[in-house]
Amino acid sequence: MQVDFLIVGQGLAGSLLARELRRRGRTVHVVDDGWKSASSQVAAGLMTPLTGRRFTLTKDYPELFAAAQAKLTELGVFRPIKVYRMFVDDEQRAKGLKRTECTSCQPFIARVTSARGELDAGLTDAFGGALMNGAWVDLPKLLADVRAELLAAGNLTEAAFDPAEAALFAEGVRWRTLRAGAIIYCDGYKSALRGPFTYLPWQPAKGEALTLRSDVPDKSFILNREGWALPLGQGVWRTGTNWQWDQLDEIPTEPQKEKLIRRFRSYFGQDVSVEVAAHVAGVRPCTSDNHPFMGTHPQQPRTHLFGGLGPRGTVWAPLMAEEMGAYLCEGTPLRPECNLSRFAPAG
Ligand SMILES: Cc1cc2nc3c(=O)[nH]c(=O)nc-3n(C[C@H](O)[C@H](O)[C@H](O)COP(=O)(O)OP(=O)(O)OC[C@H]3O[C@@H](n4cnc5c(N)ncnc54)[C@H](O)[C@@H]3O)c2cc1C
Repeated sequence: MQVDFLIVGQGLAGSLLARELRRRGRTVHVVDDGWKSASSQVAAGLMTPLTGRRFTLTKDYPELFAAAQAKLTELGVFRPIKVYRMFVDDEQRAKGLKRTECTSCQPFIARVTSARGELDAGLTDAFGGALMNGAWVDLPKLLADVRAELLAAGNLTEAAFDPAEAALFAEGVRWRTLRAGAIIYCDGYKSALRGPFTYLPWQPAKGEALTLRSDVPDKSFILNREGWALPLGQGVWRTGTNWQWDQLDEIPTEPQKEKLIRRFRSYFGQDVSVEVAAHVAGVRPCTSDNHPFMGTHPQQPRTHLFGGLGPRGTVWAPLMAEEMGAYLCEGTPLRPECNLSRFAPAG
């Protein structure tokens, strides 16, 4: 079989890029190991406009969000929802109030509350909070739908790809019986561990999440304070997460489970029941400068990378998949801050 592009990995990056390349009339073949290490299957897929202790709006967020909303709505996986960021102290509250004066933040802030219980009597928001216009993305549905499309077209092989098995030659790459004009790594944090792109400054970070049942009254917004709790309706919640830079694996741990349950309970001003239905772990493909890694290997012109989506893949991936498609098909330059050429290999 001969295709234009061989894509390694069918997480969020590989899924959106495969669709984008097909939309541009190119042929693709995807190899994925059955989502064995897919952080896209673990993520709650939240799109939270203002984040971090300093409660800041990411640069380019309005442009990235608008593109994500359009593309993910078309795919039927974009779920608009408010996010209630409960402030941890007066300082954060003062920052929240200040953000309401910034014009690029204003479209994302629906309301700032000043006292406990002002938004919802059942919350422990002693310093008030900011109600933001956010969203979450149904990533498992997106992955399953794209997988079905690719399988129906005969464009997906379920296998573990070993970079040593790929033979590079001037016109492209050969993998098993397949020949492709180029190979694109979309394998998440695995590119930090092996293969041609290990030289990049990756900072993979493990995180865990729970799906649980609780008798707490359902909310119409996501709760956010240090972690988050996403109401899925009928007493079902997803809650997470934590950051761990060692032990990079997909194994959920008991101490984190206890911590996530404690934090979930701390959001409510009453005893709430918790029954854990699922506990998962994954590794975020984070980078040293919080920007994706996109582009071509410096010594291998037929070897590309679309990854490093970090903790906010849902925000980055839709627009960046489009830009990566334009780069691969038309040679349109990538944004310098996302082009992997900003880092040179050692030696
Ligand atoms: C706990 C947690 C919470 C998160 N929360 C959010 C959130 O709320 N919002 C948000 O936007 N982002 C969140 N993220 C980040 C988000 O998951 C990532 O940015 C995004 O999903 C990365 O997508 P990807 O396709 O690059 O990688 P992945 O989803 O990891 O996909 C890589 C794919 O390649 C496959 N693969 C790897 N190696 C091989 C191989 N050798 N052969 C074949 N296949 C291979 C994997 O199995 C997988 O299917 C979270 C991540 C974690 C871990």
